[in-house]
Amino acid sequence: MKSWFRFCCIGVALLAGFGCGKKADEGGAGVGKPPAGQMRTQPGGQNVVLNGKTLKITVMDIGQGDSTLIETPSGKTVLIDAGLPGSQDKIEPILREHHVSKLDFIVDSHPHNDHIGGMGKLLEEVPFDTVYDSALVTNAPAQTRLLKAIKAGGGKFVRARKGMTVPIDNDVTMEILQPQDPLFQEGDKNYINNDSVIVRFVFGKTRLLFTGDMEEVERARLYESGADIRADFLKIAHHGSRNGTDAEFLGRVKPQIATISCATGNSFGHPHAEAIQALQATQIALYRTDLSGTIVINCDAEGHLQALPSQIAESNRVYQPGDDRQEQKRRRRKR
Ligand SMILES: [Zn+2]
Repeated sequence: MKSWFRFCCIGVALLAGFGCGKKADEGGAGVGKPPAGQMRTQPGGQNVVLNGKTLKITVMDIGQGDSTLIETPSGKTVLIDAGLPGSQDKIEPILREHHVSKLDFIVDSHPHNDHIGGMGKLLEEVPFDTVYDSALVTNAPAQTRLLKAIKAGGGKFVRARKGMTVPIDNDVTMEILQPQDPLFQEGDKNYINNDSVIVRFVFGKTRLLFTGDMEEVERARLYESGADIRADFLKIAHHGSRNGTDAEFLGRVKPQIATISCATGNSFGHPHAEAIQALQATQIALYRTDLSGTIVINCDAEGHLQALPSQIAESNRVYQPGDDRQEQKRRRRKR
């Protein structure tokens, strides 16, 4: 019932998008130029016309965690992360809706529960081929289950490292931009987040960047590596945390569309005000799973992207940060 509802919402959004004669850049107000950050946000991008082969990104609304499905024009599939334990129950219906019966590639961004928590169970149930993983061992229960599932499923385990290029099919390539050896280790600040597997997909002229829960130190490594990080689509790092996104990074990536995966009222206060302000100062169309639900982004190989959120977010909430209880506590302590 739920998935049918979602399907209907996407259908309505599609119809609304194609029924509109305006160009994406014209915005919705019709009078003057919308303030920075307001243009193309909601329901932006739906009326973009795509040419030729299309690739589909599905940023799944699985609460506080990450899970994204990529479907290439030839039907190859890549799943990046699988959210918290139990998220497989939300992911599987979406895979069925999309007629995905096998996952050709899996990317585990990093071994935290909100990224690989649902992956073990999912891979016990859905056939898969090759898993890209940092191979950072934490021995957390979710990782133990995942490694068992990979072994039992007969999947290939690949240690993902900077500089690797993975052909997904004739049209799409996955570049692994981070991590690099030596990995950050226990004792290094937030080392698990900063060993995130960062991947960029190249589809003709279109580029898609996925940043896991990368924080400042991994971002510095990314810059030092000299990697090309320009991208049309950006999965905002670390659920919109202040340590994942700043103006410099957004200026280097220059995405048209960015998404934040987070749950309403999450205990981390994601997205944080600093990241939200950096995004608001740009013309990037921002979509959040807490406001828009599951977000489908279709793109062609010429840099055109069409965003189809399953719910239309209230525009005045898009740039509202989460309720940052930690920050409130800090301020109270300082007083
Ligand atoms: Zn996370």
